[in-house]
Amino acid sequence: MSHTVVVGAFAHETNTFVPDAVTRADFQAREEYLYDAVPRNMRGTETAIGGVIDVADEEEIDLIHTVSAFATPGGVVDDDTYEFYTDLILDAVRDNVDELDGVMLPLHGAMVTESDSDGEGRLIQDVRDIVGETVPVVVTLDLHGNVSGRMVEAADALVAYETYPHLDKAKTGERGMRLLLRAIEGDIDPSMHMERPPVIAFQPKAYTPNGPMAEVMTKARQLEQRPGVLKVNVLPGFYHADIPEMGYTIPVVTDDDPDTARDVSRELAEFVWTKREEFVEEYPKPSEAIRTAKELQAEMDPEDGPIVMADFGSNPGGGGASDGTTVLREILDQGIEKAGWAIMHDPEAVEKCLNAGVGNRVTTDIGGKTDDNHGETIENVDGYVKAITDGRYVNTGTSHSGKGVQNDIGTTVRFQCGTNDSVTVVLAPTRASAFDAEIWRHIGQPPERLDMICIPSLIAFLGDYETMSSEVILIDTPGTSAVNPARFDYERIPRPLFPLDDLADDAYPNWD
Ligand SMILES: [Zn+2]
Repeated sequence: MSHTVVVGAFAHETNTFVPDAVTRADFQAREEYLYDAVPRNMRGTETAIGGVIDVADEEEIDLIHTVSAFATPGGVVDDDTYEFYTDLILDAVRDNVDELDGVMLPLHGAMVTESDSDGEGRLIQDVRDIVGETVPVVVTLDLHGNVSGRMVEAADALVAYETYPHLDKAKTGERGMRLLLRAIEGDIDPSMHMERPPVIAFQPKAYTPNGPMAEVMTKARQLEQRPGVLKVNVLPGFYHADIPEMGYTIPVVTDDDPDTARDVSRELAEFVWTKREEFVEEYPKPSEAIRTAKELQAEMDPEDGPIVMADFGSNPGGGGASDGTTVLREILDQGIEKAGWAIMHDPEAVEKCLNAGVGNRVTTDIGGKTDDNHGETIENVDGYVKAITDGRYVNTGTSHSGKGVQNDIGTTVRFQCGTNDSVTVVLAPTRASAFDAEIWRHIGQPPERLDMICIPSLIAFLGDYETMSSEVILIDTPGTSAVNPARFDYERIPRPLFPLDDLADDAYPNWD
């Protein structure tokens, strides 16, 4: 029997330390497809909605498409923008409520709007208010979601990514859609419970291929084998958001078995608590990191892959300005050759290079222009405009940004500077991530031919760069996406919280 399902994908990871609100233009600059344009552009992509569409095609589900919108992480979503997108979904739910079998929402989980710190919770609740209790509503989430009690209450099931870098987005969409179909057909009656261990996991420590997060995920997969358990979600959360909902959450979905949901969630939460010290780490500062990279470079064989480095603080994937200068300054000051930095968000420098034209020299100030948080502008950098592109490319790697996803970052410049003009800086007019290495190729600079490259990123870049790298160096830089939560002034997050507060071993668990 064919089923009718409304689907709406609307995602944003909100960094409340970024001053400017995110508007519809920011979504349009990254991804905004409406109605029929959604399947046309998202079918077959490595995204949650791509996975939802795959299952719907296979099972001949009648999907009612509304929106697929995603903006680069940034400040709070402005209320008009939030309402514009959520109304597309809510109107479709309302208009089709009589023949509707289910609602599928690929969301993020860390959206904060101007007036609500729990953007997803409000949307799910609004959908629930229209459809009532009997129509199942399933929501997929990013692993960085800050899950609220309202989300758990209002949704039938939450299904989050299991990997970071997020290489299982389509798989998550498929899982969510399969769960929804089982609920529609009455095979299951989902029931959820969520614990919150009072732990901040430094973002690079949420890396799932190894370290503490790998152990937590392995345990989650084991617990999923328990009878009645449908999904064990682990969300270390997003701590660049000063909101009451911020935190590490373990939402567990069972088939009509609240006791098991609670037991499994508690068991895993306690495990996270015992591992809390492992989720914290100190990283080198830029000068030390580049000195280390320089030493490694001296011993490199030509066929070794590049040393791949992350500039945490300016990571646009976490709300950073993508114009951090602290690492690039060291690259230039320490006279490094054959290095690269992408993507440097600097519309002014782009303009200057365009005026000079391909093949010409130009002197320009670079970076540090968005605010005072990401290092000082590097002044009077002399360089050469090697190439200019339209900034359009399609992700080709096993990348966090999703294979097959289209990018349009605006007129982009390959600027050669530093010792022997051998440092490549990819200048773009927009704040965009370089998580997919195609950014380099599209501008004529294969990343494999450089000795070291730096990406503003926390860990997401490893999805596409780890296999080519000879070494990975993570760097503690300033910025709105800085790794250490102690750099931020929090007012609204739940306290006490490790490692910001001193907590005794027996401070958790604290349930009766
Ligand atoms: Zn994420």
